[in-house]
Amino acid sequence: MNVNQSVPPVPPFGQPQPIYPGYHQSSYGGQSGSTAPAIPYGAYNGPVPGYQQTPPQGMSRAPPSSGAPPASTAQAPCGQAAYGQFGQGDVQNGPSSTVQMQRLPGSQPFGSPLAPVGNQPPVLQPYGPPPTSAQVATQLSGMQISGAVAPAPPSSGLGFGPPTSLASASGSFPNSGLYGSYPQGQAPPLSQAQGHPGIQTPQRSAPSQASSFTPPASGGPRLPSMTGPLLPGQSFGGPSVSQPNHVSSPPQALPPGTQMTGPLGPLPPMHSPQQPGYQPQQNGSFGPARGPQSNYGGPYPAAPTFGSQPGPPQPLPPKRLDPDAIPSPIQVIEDDRNNRGTEPFVTGVRGQVPPLVTTNFLVKDQGNASPRYIRCTSYNIPCTSDMAKQAQVPLAAVIKPLARLPPEEASPYVVDHGESGPLRCNRCKAYMCPFMQFIEGGRRFQCCFCSCINDVPPQYFQHLDHTGKRVDAYDRPELSLGSYEFLATVDYCKNNKFPSPPAFIFMIDVSYNAIRTGLVRLLCEELKSLLDFLPSLLDQIPEMFADTRETETVFVPVIQAGMEALKAAECAGKLFLFHTSLPIAEAPGKLKNRDDRKLINTDKEKTLFQPQTGAYQTLAKECVAQGCCVDLFLFPNQYVDVATLSVVPQLTGGSVYKYASFQVENDQERFLSDLRRDVQKVVGFDAVMRVRTSTGIRAVDFFGAFYMSNTTDVELAGLDGDKTVTVEFKHDDRLNEESGALLQCALLYTSCAGQRRLRIHNLALNCCTQLADLYRNCETDTLINYMAKFAYRGVLNSPVKAVRDTLITQCAQILACYRKNCASPSSAGQLILPECMKLLPVYLNCVLKSDVLQPGAEVTTDDRAYVRQLVTSMDVTETNVFFYPRLLPLTKSPVESTTEPPAVRASEERLSNGDIYLLENGLNLFLWVGASVQQGVVQSLFSVSSFSQITSGLSVLPVLDNPLSKKVRGLIDSLRAQRSRYMKLTVVKQEDKMEMLFKHFLVEDKSLSGGASYVDFLCHMHKEIRQLLS
Ligand SMILES: [Zn+2]
Repeated sequence: MNVNQSVPPVPPFGQPQPIYPGYHQSSYGGQSGSTAPAIPYGAYNGPVPGYQQTPPQGMSRAPPSSGAPPASTAQAPCGQAAYGQFGQGDVQNGPSSTVQMQRLPGSQPFGSPLAPVGNQPPVLQPYGPPPTSAQVATQLSGMQISGAVAPAPPSSGLGFGPPTSLASASGSFPNSGLYGSYPQGQAPPLSQAQGHPGIQTPQRSAPSQASSFTPPASGGPRLPSMTGPLLPGQSFGGPSVSQPNHVSSPPQALPPGTQMTGPLGPLPPMHSPQQPGYQPQQNGSFGPARGPQSNYGGPYPAAPTFGSQPGPPQPLPPKRLDPDAIPSPIQVIEDDRNNRGTEPFVTGVRGQVPPLVTTNFLVKDQGNASPRYIRCTSYNIPCTSDMAKQAQVPLAAVIKPLARLPPEEASPYVVDHGESGPLRCNRCKAYMCPFMQFIEGGRRFQCCFCSCINDVPPQYFQHLDHTGKRVDAYDRPELSLGSYEFLATVDYCKNNKFPSPPAFIFMIDVSYNAIRTGLVRLLCEELKSLLDFLPSLLDQIPEMFADTRETETVFVPVIQAGMEALKAAECAGKLFLFHTSLPIAEAPGKLKNRDDRKLINTDKEKTLFQPQTGAYQTLAKECVAQGCCVDLFLFPNQYVDVATLSVVPQLTGGSVYKYASFQVENDQERFLSDLRRDVQKVVGFDAVMRVRTSTGIRAVDFFGAFYMSNTTDVELAGLDGDKTVTVEFKHDDRLNEESGALLQCALLYTSCAGQRRLRIHNLALNCCTQLADLYRNCETDTLINYMAKFAYRGVLNSPVKAVRDTLITQCAQILACYRKNCASPSSAGQLILPECMKLLPVYLNCVLKSDVLQPGAEVTTDDRAYVRQLVTSMDVTETNVFFYPRLLPLTKSPVESTTEPPAVRASEERLSNGDIYLLENGLNLFLWVGASVQQGVVQSLFSVSSFSQITSGLSVLPVLDNPLSKKVRGLIDSLRAQRSRYMKLTVVKQEDKMEMLFKHFLVEDKSLSGGASYVDFLCHMHKEIRQLLS
């Protein structure tokens, strides 16, 4: 379905309409002239001439938000576009809804302490028509697990394109051969010269922004066990247990012989056995084999790094990199908090790198969008594409258009230009912003995106001061702020009609499992409190289906019914769908159980992530056209095919929640908390987002939960304040150091109250001709966010191993380019990392060993599909803690201390068996109790007299009236409040079988599934870099 934007008929300002030079759109068909017919959102999307007009298929309703209008819209009255922007003079601006809407006169100072106008009504208000409640029809007999594998459907059109920015999506380490074990005395060529490997005493000649790392006392062998307390009970052969949050499934036994800490892990999947030099010694990481190589003097640690038991006797102790000598995420986070957490971040200066997401800071908008809305991988872009290719640093922005702000920061001001609507460049349709240049005494302005000279309409005219600035610049948000909103005129509305307020519809699965687990009763009770009308139906539902035997469910028809209801009500809205099982009943969208773990690590693994049938995608498109966003709450007892069921939420901007093996008593708090939060979210409906850029770069790729029917417009049936859209940019021309580069993100949406608005975010970036400037202004957390999303999309089309290899290669190229072009000459054996990327290896390793890219035995196919889908929309804060969990010691600091304890590195070495720790990653929350914790502490927290009496797996701490109990429970509450989903607590005792789950999150250690330890991976990365440089 192509969008048929076209040049709007007769622009009012009489500018000729040259073709926007930044666009290369020949592939979308020819230019259409000014007589072009309908333009859905023509106003919004700008001229973008020349899309082919293809009527959508199978859609009875007209224009999807910004999608292709059906042929019928071309016959809109008076030749007016369905979304025409120009013309119609006397349409009242503003919705007819009851929402109060203040207008902001253009000259009114907005910097006053007045609350921003246009605030939305309390979110609990039921929007629009009363929600209806639909039941899921259920039929027939029990669910069968057939194990059949359905053919993979084509994924085209889902936005799951092949990788675009990496050199290669497949392949292996360029030099995997070096990976293997080296026979004694046969060190790898590059490190021979070094008595000690790789990482040497830092040479201070390196530029100040580089980090180099000191090894342990040169040549001095160090046993792994010397670096941390040796904990008892570190080998586990016992059964694993399901993870509390996103990992489901009943406990499964690990393959026999798998050890958690021993040197003999599973075969590292990253290596191909046939590669020379590789010996399948299954170190499980990048390190060399245990055994014969122990005397190898290379940089490769020969032993696992985490407090392992000594293992088989070795003739000589291996050398080992000191974990304290390699870059520590904790240190970097602490340093940034100390250096940048005290002053507000003022956005007036172009190309400033914001504080890290882990730092608490306030933002003052002085012309660029807050980092809460936009974060970039780099704030200094290479001027040429050659430079960009050389560096391999992806140029991307992670955009959260409706981000929630802390109470101290004002929401974007709403600007109302009345009937004339927002002022835009005639050529590229960019919105008025602080970077537009007023000339000729204020009568014209030059567009900062496309350089077009535009007339200033009389009602907007203002004189310039002696610096060329409009004298009213500080009275107008759109001339002085990075982020603001415009009230949209009716031209920005579907069918030239202001929208009705959106509606919420709850659709409840009432099949056997849903009734049996108590879900239906719980949900109906909760909805009653959320919506205090409709009580009678909600009372009746649990009774009506109390005796149900139906176990088969349908899915697609349910969504269809909800969407039809919205269509009939002529409004956008949200469906809340509560569902328990694989929809195997005879109906559209019927699915088979096709789960097959044998596909893991084969070329067919990708099919596990692909939807089983195209029906879901077709349905999703219809939903987007109606502005129908779908949130899915899953309560599976077994495989439900999340990969397929999540297609509709994913493409409509919705959310998926999964509560495996749901039990009311254990899971109700988590479910209800998520539901309440979800219902109360501020959502923009029927939205379209477009990112414009100044000449020289353009948006080429997009990641997130949305639908795209063309290459530029991100269509979102709904977009909430937690969702991000990640945009990648490529050069299409040379950039200029002086003018820099500009981004403008414009989101057209309908507010919960039914008001049509445009939210604009602007960001100016620097451009450089020196690579060093690029490497000085990168943000690793954002890079990792982008790389994870890129990789997680890649698994839909490529073998997982190829995806991992691509990431490793790219990381090595980034760091090698720095080493070659920016670092001072130094010994090849020294690892030098750019200061702002010194955590790239540790974080990238966390992505590589995540459940999607390297699943452990306990991770189900649904878990992987679920996480893959979640990460796609995560912001940088979320990916940061998701991939590198926070581990907080609770008993190290005095109980009176009111500040959050400083985190420690996520490694078993950092755990002391006399302490208690909290670990969180945004989805999971563990309380780890050391075996030697003082009896008094045990009593204070758990109200039992000894460690052995603590119930393993406990999910609620007793409410006790003592300082420690209060402090720990308070901290848990505070962590939960920081995250967008409720984190269920799991108490884990040291040496208990549950501990294995917990250790899965100690990401600096080697993982059971073969993921490398941080130390091993860093050494491997070093090797890759040297290989690239030699
Ligand atoms: Zn322009």
